[in-house]
Amino acid sequence: MPLLLNIETLANGPVQLKGELSPEELGMETLDELVEADEPLDYDLTVERAGDNILLQGQITMRLQCECARCLRAFEHRVELQGWSCLLPLNGDEKIELINNSGDLTPYLREDTFLAFPQHPLCEPGCDGSPKLAWGESKPLKITEASGKTNEASVWSKLDNLNL
Ligand SMILES: [Zn+2]
Repeated sequence: MPLLLNIETLANGPVQLKGELSPEELGMETLDELVEADEPLDYDLTVERAGDNILLQGQITMRLQCECARCLRAFEHRVELQGWSCLLPLNGDEKIELINNSGDLTPYLREDTFLAFPQHPLCEPGCDGSPKLAWGESKPLKITEASGKTNEASVWSKLDNLNL
């Protein structure tokens, strides 16, 4: 089901819209091969008439399967638009297209969600690109080695201070 709104239902006040749009309904094509949008988009919106406009307010969330641009590790990224709002004019050049008083809200949700996609997905801020699974075990060893030397040095300097 695309997200259709019959504007006549707004005559009695705000309407709650809550549900999800499947990837097929969204027809979302990501240009970046590191980002996959194959899970539904969740919406929880309040819709009301505001003069000659329709006002959408609420939140949109969507989970994306990403691949880190630096280390290629797969991870999940959550797009969360809290306090999202959108004003749809009923008149003028930018007006929402209505068929039998119903308009499809899907493109408006799709556009802003798409704009919130990560442009350069990273598994964590400041990922240095080293393959973590292969090298993770050797790193602590180096640190131990280095700190061992430091201890040794401080032991010698303590001995020096004793003035034996
Ligand atoms: Zn990474």
